[in-house]
Amino acid sequence: MTGFFRIERKYEFRKHDHLIFNFTKKKLIFNDVRKFGFVKIFNNKEVSNCSHIKKLGPEPLSSKFCYEYFKNNLNRKTNIKNLLMNQSFVAGLGNIYCSEILFRSNIEPIRPINLIKDYEIIKIVNSVKKILLNSIKLGGTTIKNFVVSDEKIGYFKNKLMVYGRDGMSCFKCKSKIVKITQSGRSTFFCSQCQK
Ligand SMILES: [Zn+2]
Repeated sequence: MTGFFRIERKYEFRKHDHLIFNFTKKKLIFNDVRKFGFVKIFNNKEVSNCSHIKKLGPEPLSSKFCYEYFKNNLNRKTNIKNLLMNQSFVAGLGNIYCSEILFRSNIEPIRPINLIKDYEIIKIVNSVKKILLNSIKLGGTTIKNFVVSDEKIGYFKNKLMVYGRDGMSCFKCKSKIVKITQSGRSTFFCSQCQK
């Protein structure tokens, strides 16, 4: 959750550096204050059988994450926010992105998944891909913990439509953005734009 990688030409020690990968010209350093991270070593053939990877759903930007996949995997009892957060359904969607994806899709985060219509599934799948691609372009959302390169650090944070904006007015309709808690995580949405 926290922990980060950084790239340096000449290694400079920082507290909580745990691992250094030495490349010809640069070093990739893994720093992890809270020690949630771990490293496992596999050869190419074994890696897809690793228990941590085996359990994961498809990558959101892969062609496997599509309307058909979504539609065929709705046989569980949950709401749409928790479904998107479930790593065995789709890998790697974090809390900030789930709020943003559902705002872009005009869907209320508490909606049970059995009430999601087909055209809405298409909307969600498209929003997932659009938002992730845009965020990657802008260097992600986390200014503190993740260093991509010198210039592009967390600028997607300035593009957030609902996340962290509770009590502020919606950019689309001027209603107040609401904050609720789902499975212990904050969710932000506009009750006018999202139904
Ligand atoms: Zn709104």
